[in-house]
Amino acid sequence: MVTTHNLGFPRIGARRELKLGLESYWKGQSTLADLTTLGAALRRQHWADQAALDLAPVGDFSFYDQVLDMSFTLGNLPERVQGFQGEALDNYFRVARGRSAQTAEAHAGCCGGVAAGEMTKWFDTNYHYIVPEFTSATEFKLDASRLLEQLAEARSQGVKAKPVIIGPVTYLAIGKSKDGSDRLALLERLLPVYAQLLDTLAAQGVEWLQIDEPILVTELDADWQHAFNTAYHHLKVSKLKLLLATYFGQLQENAYLAAHLPVAGLHVDAINDREGVRPLLNLLPAHKVLSLGVVNGRNIWKTDLNATLDWLEPLARQLGQRLWIAPSCSLLHVPVDLASEQKLDADILSWLAFARQKLAELQVLAQALNGGRDSVREALAANQAALAARRASPRVNNPAVKLAVARITEDLGRRESPYGQRAPKQAALLQLPRFPTTTIGSFPQTAEIRQARSEFKAGRLDLPAYQAVMRAEIERAVREQEALGLDVLVHGEAERNDMVEYFGEQLEGYAFSQFGWVQSYGSRCVKPPILFGDISRPHTMTVEWTRYAQSLTDKPMKGMLTGPVTILNWSFVRDDQPRSASCLQLALAIRQEVLDLEQAGVRVIQIDEAALREGLPLRRAQWQSYLSWAVQSFRITANGVRDETQIHTHMCYSEFNDIMASIADMDADVITIETSRSDMELLDAFDHFSYPNEIGPGVYDIHSPNIPTEQHMVALMKKAAERVPAERLWVNPDCGLKTRQWPEVIPALTHMVAAAKTLRAELA
Ligand code: GLN
Ligand code: ZN
Repeated sequence: MVTTHNLGFPRIGARRELKLGLESYWKGQSTLADLTTLGAALRRQHWADQAALDLAPVGDFSFYDQVLDMSFTLGNLPERVQGFQGEALDNYFRVARGRSAQTAEAHAGCCGGVAAGEMTKWFDTNYHYIVPEFTSATEFKLDASRLLEQLAEARSQGVKAKPVIIGPVTYLAIGKSKDGSDRLALLERLLPVYAQLLDTLAAQGVEWLQIDEPILVTELDADWQHAFNTAYHHLKVSKLKLLLATYFGQLQENAYLAAHLPVAGLHVDAINDREGVRPLLNLLPAHKVLSLGVVNGRNIWKTDLNATLDWLEPLARQLGQRLWIAPSCSLLHVPVDLASEQKLDADILSWLAFARQKLAELQVLAQALNGGRDSVREALAANQAALAARRASPRVNNPAVKLAVARITEDLGRRESPYGQRAPKQAALLQLPRFPTTTIGSFPQTAEIRQARSEFKAGRLDLPAYQAVMRAEIERAVREQEALGLDVLVHGEAERNDMVEYFGEQLEGYAFSQFGWVQSYGSRCVKPPILFGDISRPHTMTVEWTRYAQSLTDKPMKGMLTGPVTILNWSFVRDDQPRSASCLQLALAIRQEVLDLEQAGVRVIQIDEAALREGLPLRRAQWQSYLSWAVQSFRITANGVRDETQIHTHMCYSEFNDIMASIADMDADVITIETSRSDMELLDAFDHFSYPNEIGPGVYDIHSPNIPTEQHMVALMKKAAERVPAERLWVNPDCGLKTRQWPEVIPALTHMVAAAKTLRAELA
């Protein structure tokens, strides 16, 4: 008999109950008791959803973040929150949310002015965790209370519990040393606490513990490989059976290491590493359980159950009782329940599976393995019919789009002339001063804008009335920018709810869910649009707004688009063709918009690639192939314009030293990037590789309500001018201003324009 289990269930609730509960508690509108009651109710619901499994996860629920939970379990709290007198959960939220360091002083009397823990992406997902902090003095101390309470709770509900924790090597690997010390040196201090935790759980009669070590799917140097051996030899004395869980990628050269660690079972991601399973089987000692992740935990498409069984059945015969099956990774990364969707049309609905549906698929697979495919004949037939309909659907397949992609040639991505020849033509046309000033696109999304949008969506505001509100906002943004004296203006993006959704809604091949929320961090959720079919652009998307904005001013108005790579990386993407193929389709669609903007007289066009970096594969060995199609897609989008048209791109991060060559290869005339928070550290990279075109290193940290002074911005730009010739520098904020308020933006941009004038005078 095959064993079924799950690595983790989404915790936000089918209707984002956790988000609402957290936010109401943080605003003081509900009590801690309300919140803990809500947590218990959600866990009860999630365990009920998983009742058919042989083993259900316990400890995967979190009020904020599972990595932060682990830090609390290990007693690894940042020094700044130690000794807190209040409720433990409040202290937990202090680490998670803190108060930004800048406003710490103002909060000295209330919350103690704690800086929030740093957040970063969990492997290659869109989930952000709170980074564990280490110093050479870090000590660990077990606090098993959360796990023990949830274990007791699960058992009282008859749950066949398998507690879940993050393994010691991954825990150290994903953390950050605050004092430059080697975090691996802490392993020796950490392992006894893990051993104690294992003993504590064993004493409760726990049989299996899932211990997550996803770092095993990345390239590990000898020290980190050695750490795995040290760690698991230390922990093997425990009476617990350990299921070592890896996911998100391929074990490759770590397969031998993973197979031979002294644990009772190994979980691998058989979606991302199907090719690795057979070889792994030959390595795996004959007593070990092999758990195969056969239902994709990272996307929303139905599993091909028959194809999965074709592959799985021989393995099941070979492994017998030793075979377990599960989703590939925690279901944290998919929405909760497809049954909530009322507006998705029936075709598309029939192709999808959210968390609850994925567990049902797992059940069908197990039943087929245990009782033969005949025992689930109907379920398999329904699955097959849905997949066949999807494959044949004219909504998925657009021959014209496929043909256009097949006809892509090298020169589609090449500008007429190299930058050196374009730049003087653009300068002659645009007549910009040195250190030209601009912004990244959006201006504050005011309450009026949001209200008009929701009234419009609800049908209470008609299109002309809605458009009138948006036009008024655009006019306001243009007038403000003229008064500020900015050089290249933007229309302000009032009409955009979101930089990806806005385009997805206008492209063929996209669908939108109502409740397809996925946790991004804490109470923050995102609802990625669903790229299900061949992409085409039936009509222009931004031209009218931009044309209107340009009609209000003589200054150049920048057209604003989101690039293909970012649209792709922030969507749920079809699984029936390579991501690169979908990206090229997006590139062709956005390219048409670029050309239409140019046709409409727009002289500067910005194509945002905010998410280009986050698409990088987990293994460096695969970076080049991703970067090559990502850059090609951008080039196809951008480079069909005349020499005189100036292409900008924008990226929301400063770590691009390691991909600088690819970014330069995009060949945008101007790139704007986030640098103000890192004090222009980014520009260190220019010692080795200089960006050949123009660059606008952000001087205004838009994440903070602080208003930067003119002197501060001048100083940052002077640092930049040490590395980049002054005639190639632009002056701009780090990112868009949509989350800020006008009363902050006006003085900050006033200072920014003044800074540019000072620079012109001083560095002339
Ligand atoms: N143009 C977008 C804006 O200004 C860019 C947002 C982003 O980079 N995340 O809001
Ligand atoms: Zn940005």
